[in-house]
Amino acid sequence: MTSPVMSPARFKGQLIDQADPGYEDARSVYNAMIVRRPALIARPADADDVATAIRHARDNGLPLAVRGGAHNGAGLGTCDDGLVIDLSSLKGIEVDPASRTVRVGGGCTWGEVDRATGEFGLATPSGIISTTGVGGLTLGGGLGHLTRAFGLSVDNLLEADVVLADGRKVTANAESEPDLYWALRGGGGNFGVVTSFTFRLHEVGTIFGGPTFWPVEQGAEVLAAYRDFIPQAPRELNGFFAFCTVPPGPPFPEAIHLREVCGVVWCHLGSEEEARRDMAPLLDSLPEPLLHGVHYMPHAQLQSAFDGLYPAGEQWYWRADFVNEIPDEAVALHARFGAEMPTMKSTMHLYPIDGAAHDVGAGDTAWSYRDARWASVFAGVDPDPANVPAIRQWSIDYHEALHPHSAGGAYVNMMMDEGRERVRASYRGNYDRLASVKAAYDPANTFRINQNIRPEDAS
Ligand SMILES: Cc1cc2nc3c(=O)[nH]c(=O)nc-3n(C[C@H](O)[C@H](O)[C@H](O)COP(=O)(O)OP(=O)(O)OC[C@H]3O[C@@H](n4cnc5c(N)ncnc54)[C@H](O)[C@@H]3O)c2cc1C
Repeated sequence: MTSPVMSPARFKGQLIDQADPGYEDARSVYNAMIVRRPALIARPADADDVATAIRHARDNGLPLAVRGGAHNGAGLGTCDDGLVIDLSSLKGIEVDPASRTVRVGGGCTWGEVDRATGEFGLATPSGIISTTGVGGLTLGGGLGHLTRAFGLSVDNLLEADVVLADGRKVTANAESEPDLYWALRGGGGNFGVVTSFTFRLHEVGTIFGGPTFWPVEQGAEVLAAYRDFIPQAPRELNGFFAFCTVPPGPPFPEAIHLREVCGVVWCHLGSEEEARRDMAPLLDSLPEPLLHGVHYMPHAQLQSAFDGLYPAGEQWYWRADFVNEIPDEAVALHARFGAEMPTMKSTMHLYPIDGAAHDVGAGDTAWSYRDARWASVFAGVDPDPANVPAIRQWSIDYHEALHPHSAGGAYVNMMMDEGRERVRASYRGNYDRLASVKAAYDPANTFRINQNIRPEDAS
């Protein structure tokens, strides 16, 4: 199907307009609460196509959205009436085991990357759900099972090929375009379209991991013990805290199906003996769990373990915060809201961001909260649109109750559209430099469908 608004002669990839039979599928994003109708979706064949699409949006005054894996909770990978550059067509993955690097197309998902690097017993830090896009997750920071051992995804980003707002193609790394390289590591999609990412790889073959669950009624006791335990634990051990409901199916024992629980999802990089030794101080201090479901598995398997539970097309509303400390008063609030989850898929996670993530200084990359110990996320999730008011309200109430105990800002990848001040607070001391880089690379704010850094804020 040709497009009425962009010349197919200059664009080698696929163009999908509203008359195209594939349009409804192509316009959908992961969060079904986000329903937007772009005028045109462009799936580029290469970086030149990306430049053509950017110029087309600029020349015609169209809103421009850029989409990687389409997972953004606030729906920042799409727009109404404008142009969406859907990078899902840019998929190449080249693993170089000799240099321990991987070069990844701008539209890859983490599952694709983990499978490719896993073949060599290597991995780079990603997230906890493999369908998430490399693009958005990396540019916003990247928290996951390997954070304590190897840092954020951005701490492992060596280089990015970027198409800028004026259509120029540049490579950003420590030597070339260093300001852009700094800003890309946490500053989101504000600075250009990344057509390929190069990451450092680490030896990560089989990991020892899985969940340990206790009854939700023990939430306060388990969270207080976890709070004291994880900052002291060795970096090889990652464990995020969760309130959740046990899914009604394998591999979970039937006796605990649909049981509301609190717990820790573990990922240990050493031997089973080392893993059991490192988890012991927490496990020995708490009552017998309902489930201690830890075992050896490939890293890619842990990273995709929740994919089936959270497919695309469900309703999502989430709020988030960075957290330095969890005083007893906050523990009590968590225990209360954790016991009031509105639906089976609603959940609260606390992702540790210490260990290797603390080796990097607050101003070394755009991702400024290097002193925070956790990123919290309050996620209301359900397949039924009728439950949107309930999941939304729980997430907002939970967040508002805990926000006074937060560090101020939030992880931009887990925010909704929460306004300018919230974005500024989430970059705090780095915001002014980000605004200057934005003014240099995107003075007209062509890339503004994101947690926006405004060029006019540059001093
Ligand atoms: C189920 C689920 C699980 C998640 N788990 C984690 C997790 O474990 N750890 C974590 O850190 N985050 C996690 N997230 C949050 C995730 O990092 C963000 O939602 C992120 O925005 C998703 O990236 P994406 O490419 O899939 O999204 P998209 O919606 O495609 O894009 C999000 C933003 O990034 C920009 N963008 C994407 N790709 C590019 C590119 N190549 N060049 C320039 N700009 C680009 C877009 O313009 C947009 O502003 C999760 C989200 C969901 C829904």
